[in-house]
Amino acid sequence: AQSLNRHGSRELDSSFLARQFLRECPQVSCVVPAYNEAGNIVATITAIAEEMIQLRRDFEIIIVDDGSSDSTVAEARTTIGRFPVRVICLSRNFGKENAMTAGMRAARGDACIMIDADLQEPVSYLKEFLEHWDAGIEMVYGVRAHREDESYFKRKGANAFYWLLRKSTSVSIPADARDFRLMDRKVVEAILSLPERNRFMKGLYSWVGFKSQAVPIVIDQRQSGTSKFNFKRLFDLALTGLTSFSDWPLRVWTGVGVVISMLSICYALMIAGRTLFFGSDVPGWATLSVAVCFLGGVQILSIGVLGEYVGRVFAEVKARPGHIVSQEFSYTEEL
Ligand code: UDP
Ligand code: MG
Repeated sequence: AQSLNRHGSRELDSSFLARQFLRECPQVSCVVPAYNEAGNIVATITAIAEEMIQLRRDFEIIIVDDGSSDSTVAEARTTIGRFPVRVICLSRNFGKENAMTAGMRAARGDACIMIDADLQEPVSYLKEFLEHWDAGIEMVYGVRAHREDESYFKRKGANAFYWLLRKSTSVSIPADARDFRLMDRKVVEAILSLPERNRFMKGLYSWVGFKSQAVPIVIDQRQSGTSKFNFKRLFDLALTGLTSFSDWPLRVWTGVGVVISMLSICYALMIAGRTLFFGSDVPGWATLSVAVCFLGGVQILSIGVLGEYVGRVFAEVKARPGHIVSQEFSYTEEL
């Protein structure tokens, strides 16, 4: 607790912090996945810590550095003396889903809060999250009240994805839900017990069930830097979501095959009949080439879908861990 003075903490309730620093296990773990967030990380940590101190909660903040190439780790470490911060460094960039899993694994609290490092998700909602938790809700999550700040293209894409996901799976995955949420220890343990490598967290949160409550939230602008999710990353995530929560894309081809075979038999009978009764005529290359192209397309498409699943099965079978921790810096070492 002495380090508080040494680092010249601001006008915070230092006796509260001192008690807090000495506690073995905090009540709430705030997990922050961060990838190249040097410009945001100190502000994020400060905002979360000040909010939690004001709410008088025992807390720890776990920064999961997802292989940043900038000074995110150094920046985050500067706060270790002031706040109960732990910085967990992954050995390279493993993606947000894996970084969140790493954070949940490191979390020791009775509750785990997941929040982005760019201050897009206002910490003022934490009060409401914690109140719901106190009232017995096991998972409280933020849902975007609207997506008007996003581009037309991204909005339509998200709508289409959630529509398809809803049609694809019996698990009800709420549209526009954020990773921004509070999970009870029970939920954290349940999610960590799922061994899959292709982690679509928004699906896993719903799959495990538990008493959940949505809180509509209005997202702020990103504080500094740019979004890490470009079109390719979003597309990959969407594919992971669809393949890990449905098997109809695999099975639909049986139906397509049956229908095409039936049609082919009918067509074959028709041609045979016509040739028998009216004699053969040479033309017909148009029909032939259309049929060849169409069937070629259907076959390649269905093999491609198969490939999506086989690729993911391959990843599961290899059973490589989703992330590797290379280093940890913790406030507890300073005590
Ligand atoms: N993030 C991460 N690993 C990645 C990409 C992103 O840990 O490979 C973190 C990022 O630092 C941020 C959060 O995930 O804290 C959300 O990322 P971002 O703000 O870029 O996404 P958006 O808000 O645009 O959906
Ligand atoms: Mg963001």
